[in-house]
Formats: sequence, C-alpha cells, structure tokens
Amino acid sequence: MGQATRTTKLLLDLGKRDQGGANTDKRAALDATARLLNQARAFYIDFFLAHADKLAERVPYYSEKHLEMRERAISANELLTWAEACTVATAAHPRPWEGWNFSARFPEMPFIYRRSVIKDAIGKVRAYLSSLANWEKSGKRKGKPGLPGATDHPTLYQGTCELILEEAKGGDRFVRLKVYDGHAWQWVNYPVVCSRYFQQRQREPAWEQQSPTLVLSKQAAALHFPQTKEITAKKVKESKLDPDLVTVAVDLNVKNLAVITVRQHGTIIKTVFITDHGLDQQRYRHLRRIAKKQWLSGKPVKDERSNQQLWRHVRRMNEDAAHKVARSIANVCARYPGCVLLFERLRKIRAKGASKSRRMNRKQANHLRGKINQQAREKAFVEGVVTVEVNPHGTSQQCSRCGLKGERFSYRGSKRIKAPWGKLFWCPHCRYEANADWNASVNVHHSFFNELHWQPRLKKKA
Ligand SMILES: [Zn+2]
Repeated sequence: MGQATRTTKLLLDLGKRDQGGANTDKRAALDATARLLNQARAFYIDFFLAHADKLAERVPYYSEKHLEMRERAISANELLTWAEACTVATAAHPRPWEGWNFSARFPEMPFIYRRSVIKDAIGKVRAYLSSLANWEKSGKRKGKPGLPGATDHPTLYQGTCELILEEAKGGDRFVRLKVYDGHAWQWVNYPVVCSRYFQQRQREPAWEQQSPTLVLSKQAAALHFPQTKEITAKKVKESKLDPDLVTVAVDLNVKNLAVITVRQHGTIIKTVFITDHGLDQQRYRHLRRIAKKQWLSGKPVKDERSNQQLWRHVRRMNEDAAHKVARSIANVCARYPGCVLLFERLRKIRAKGASKSRRMNRKQANHLRGKINQQAREKAFVEGVVTVEVNPHGTSQQCSRCGLKGERFSYRGSKRIKAPWGKLFWCPHCRYEANADWNASVNVHHSFFNELHWQPRLKKKA
C-alpha cells in the first residue's frame, strides 16, 4: 500500500485587461493577502517559540486497546484550540494574553485563514524544535538549525476559495478567492486559464482532492491542486519469486536519453530507444552563449542573476524532456501489469576538464538524468509499478552475454576506434557485438537478478 501524489496547476489569467485578464488591483490584492498571511504566520511562530514547553506537553488519555490510562503527545488540533483561546478575543475569552492579541493586530481576518496559519506555524515550530534537539544531542558545533521562516504559499481551505469552471453565463470560468485588498477582506473573482485537461484530471474519481495552495511568482499566479491516490503494489521480494515476472530496465544516457529493455523468462522481449532529438547539442549552444556573455561582462555582480531568459529556456527544455521520457517509460511499464522497474543507482559524475560551456552542459545532462529517474518513478508508481535501484557496477563495461569485461568502440570512416565513449560494444571473449547503451540496459536486469558479474556480496567473516 502506498500513496501517489500529483499536482495540477491552474494559472490565473493576469494577461492584458482587454484580453480577459485580471486588472492590476486584483493582482495587488493577491500580493497583499500573501504578505498579510506571512505576517500572521510569523506572529504564531513567535507565539509557539515563546511557549515551546506547551508543544512538548503530554496528555493523559484512556486507551481502549490496553484498558488503562496512558499518555501521548499533544495533538495539533488541541494546540490550535489552545492558541486560539490565548490570542483571539471571543465572547467566551474577551481578553487575550498581554502582548499576544491577534484580533487587535489582524482585525477581521477570516477564521479559516487564521487556522491555516496556526497549523502552518505548529508544523514549522515542531520541525524546528526536533531538529534543534537532534543537533544538541549530536554535540556538533556546525549545522545549528536556523529559526523557521514565515514565508510560505498560503493554503486555500474550503471557505476561502471557490472554483467556478462549469460554463457559467457568458462562458466565463473563474475562481472566487477571499482576499485582502489593503482595507478589508472580500470575495474577488479571478479569471483562469483553464483547459479540458485540467478538468479531466480534476474529475478522475480515484484521485482525492486536497486544498489548493496559492503560488505567486514575479510573472504569474497559479493555484496548485494536490491530489492523492491509494496505490496497492506487491513487495519486490514477493514479485522476485514469481517465475513469470517481467522486468523493465532503463539505462539513462546523454544522446540516447533512455534505453528501455523488457525481459521475461530470461529473454529480452521488447526494446525502446528514446533519443534526445538534438537536445544535447541545442543546450550546448545555449550554454556556450551564456559562457561567452559571462566572460565578456566580467566578474558577476553579487545577488544579481545574469542571462535569466536563456537559463529559463534551458531549464524548460530539460523539464520538458524529462516529462516526456518519464511518460514513455511509464507507458512501457503500464503494458506489463505487475512488472518491476529497474534503474541504476545514479552515480555522481563530476563535470571536469574541457571548456566551461561543456562542463555546464555535462552538469545539465546529469541533472536531467536525475529528473527522469525521479519522474519515471512517480509516474510508474501511479500504475502500481515499484522501482528498484540496482548496483551499477560495470554495467557499461561487462558483456551482457558472457559477463566478462569487454570494450567500447566506434567506427570512424571504416576504422574501428577503441574509446570509452564508443557507441558500440565488443566482447573479446565471446565475440559479441552490440549497441553499447543497449548492452548496459540488458546488464541492469543481470544486476537485479544477481547473475554473471553481479554476484551478491559475501558477508565478511567476523
Ligand atoms: Zn562476452
């Protein structure tokens, strides 16, 4: 059993007014709301830090299971009730504590927002206190945890946010948000950029909706909707005993972004090559341009980013490629229900030597491999497929037929050139020749089943 999560983004339309975008006042209201909520969160973080002993309180309760009185840690809900009683003026508690009068400092804040910031603050302070305790226990001088920060994306619980996506009168689609416009709290309608894909994902019955968060950036504003789904998957140990088990191995590379091989009953039944369609080359050209511009402009200015547009473009190219490759891997997995997805444990390859642009490109390529690994794992898990990381030792050097060490080579003209970057693989022991990346991908299966070169390590005698 496990839980898969995914996030669907709904962009608020902050485009030009005459093209249906929200006006600037509405945009300012979003910023003002986030700022005010940050201040409120800071208030409660200070409050809980000042009363840290309350968070450590133990509460007695009657255990039905053990039929006796026991103690447990105070729950977040109890803390919330207590904090509200101390800081908020109500008919029952007309006088909040001296110096902690929330109602006076943040008049008329909707109680749902107040509770969400209190919950945020409890989480942050608890995390801080436990890491502080760990640090003190460790006795190290370095690495003292810093105080928790108050900035966060506000969560919009029910009662502060309403989605109106069904074609209302005039076909308008918008969200109603409770925002602070600088003077008072009120409901404001924001137009949204809504596609049918968003609605499809919202409606899928197996996925449970969670409250969205409001994410503001310089260019855009969006609502992020997390969704969760319960997944039932077999344990790898159990599936390894199954003689009909299908394994899907992936070898991640630079030009062949992924080589997927599917194996059952000891034979490879399917192979998929996913090339980068020139991504490496394009990215290299962009990075060369960045390196040159940096060189021309001299020493970088502190706290100032350069070449923002180009970097954003490079990031997006990588992001896009990662999603597409991960999707193809997950699609292959979906065709074999109950299969196991195999990756090599990613090695850290230091980008060194060569030119600066080449080093940067290597770094980006490594980053991309990590992204593909992570996203493929998530997307495959949604299909109920578990991922295993196998020992990568020698997967690209050993022969996938006899398990002995071979060499990589390439053809230049009609000449064979032996080189570690060679596209082909040759085994001098059994005279086997194959595509080098494919050979590595097949070896990943061997590593999973502890065959040939990949014997389980014997335990050292004591
Ligand atoms: Zn061989």
